[in-house]
Amino acid sequence: MSDERTFVIVGASLAGAKAVETLRADGFTGRIILVGEETERPYERPPLSKGYLLGKDPRDKAYVHDVQWYSSNDVDLVLGVQATAIDPSAHTVTLDGVEPVHYDRLLLATGSRVRRLDVPGSDNLGIRYLRTITESDTLLRDLREGAQVLVVGAGWIGLEVTAAARTHGAAVTVVEVDTLPLRRVLGDEVAGVYAELHRAHDVDFRFSTGVQEFGGMGGRLTHAVLSDGSEVPADIAVVGVGIRPATELAESAGLDVSNGVITDAGLRTSDPDIFACGDVASSFNPLFRRHIRVEHWANALNGGKAAGKAMLGQDVSYDRVPYFYSDQYDHGMEYSGYVEPEGYDSVVFRGDPSIVDGKAPEFVAFWVDRDGRVLAGMNANVWDVNEPIQQLVRAGCAGEAVDPARLGDPDVPLQDLLPE
Ligand SMILES: Cc1cc2nc3c(=O)[nH]c(=O)nc-3n(C[C@H](O)[C@H](O)[C@H](O)COP(=O)(O)OP(=O)(O)OC[C@H]3O[C@@H](n4cnc5c(N)ncnc54)[C@H](O)[C@@H]3O)c2cc1C
Repeated sequence: MSDERTFVIVGASLAGAKAVETLRADGFTGRIILVGEETERPYERPPLSKGYLLGKDPRDKAYVHDVQWYSSNDVDLVLGVQATAIDPSAHTVTLDGVEPVHYDRLLLATGSRVRRLDVPGSDNLGIRYLRTITESDTLLRDLREGAQVLVVGAGWIGLEVTAAARTHGAAVTVVEVDTLPLRRVLGDEVAGVYAELHRAHDVDFRFSTGVQEFGGMGGRLTHAVLSDGSEVPADIAVVGVGIRPATELAESAGLDVSNGVITDAGLRTSDPDIFACGDVASSFNPLFRRHIRVEHWANALNGGKAAGKAMLGQDVSYDRVPYFYSDQYDHGMEYSGYVEPEGYDSVVFRGDPSIVDGKAPEFVAFWVDRDGRVLAGMNANVWDVNEPIQQLVRAGCAGEAVDPARLGDPDVPLQDLLPE
């Protein structure tokens, strides 16, 4: 018997594409409409500040599926079109303010939008943001030998762009309101490693200050004035001051929204026929026993798959340990777990995090609470340990403590620290 239902997915990026893939893989034969406001088919964003921006990887490598995949899987891919309204009682979603389209089930995979700087001169043409592949195309042309690049915000995007810019031979100044890069995510202990890593690549950090004004001539950027009164010359400025979840559709539809679209562990929103996943969703994570919104690639990948299953009525309990990765110069890392800013008591290092002769160190760091529970772990240039780190975080969530001395001892295999 044919399935007459229509499932609409808003947001044609990684989460949306993975949901669609799962719907077909799990046997859904009804109509699928995947709507995206960008004109590109779904692609992954991590390469935009790494392999692609470094000029190492081809553009094609970023796409989630090849171009034929959508027609071969009978997916109506509607690109360059924005979903502008949802009517939950009529079960319709309006595209580009025109015709309402009927849905039986709807998935919101609308992701995040960049926060923009609003200071005098911030409309200068030399100011860049990095969220889309087109923005990465532009930046790839900008990052050249001798260019003067100002990076505003020492978060993951800012630091990865910094590494790419230095690798291309551009001079980089990084402006950050905090006292260290990534301090809110990693804490002082590990954030210091990133400051040293970039300094070893001749990056000029300006901490505890922000951009007060951009200056230009003839439409071109020439400099920025910082809040400490200093002036930094710049041909381009790349702003990476965070993102916000794209909740506007959900809000106007009256769904529960609080720092993201609220869902239960089955990724269902406050409306039973509407689901949310990826960056935009604040989902109840049974492991942490609270709602968490995760702005990372693995959550889009796994959350998209889980949402596809949930839309089909399968029993889903989305309890992944949050995971992300970053690559900067010769330093690669994976981080697993969830710690609020300053929400830990100590950091236990396994290996030496110092930078010697400019070479990225090899170490594992664990964020631990006062009871010895592992809250998160990060392996830097140490590989094949992510699985036991995730298991240690799961054990920590279940209340299991570890001995910090053994945790920090590289001679004790991580597996030996796991509960029986
Ligand atoms: C440059 C960069 C590098 C990154 N590197 C890493 C990394 O190394 N590791 C890591 O873990 N994470 C990384 N991330 C984060 C990761 O890419 C995101 O977590 C992931 O893209 C989230 O996927 P998503 O599908 O939920 O949302 P998004 O990728 O934000 O996609 C949402 C899509 O929905 C569209 N949309 C929104 N509203 C509407 C609407 N009303 N109608 C139609 N379309 C709409 C948007 O235009 C967008 O295309 C990086 C992000 C960026 C930008």
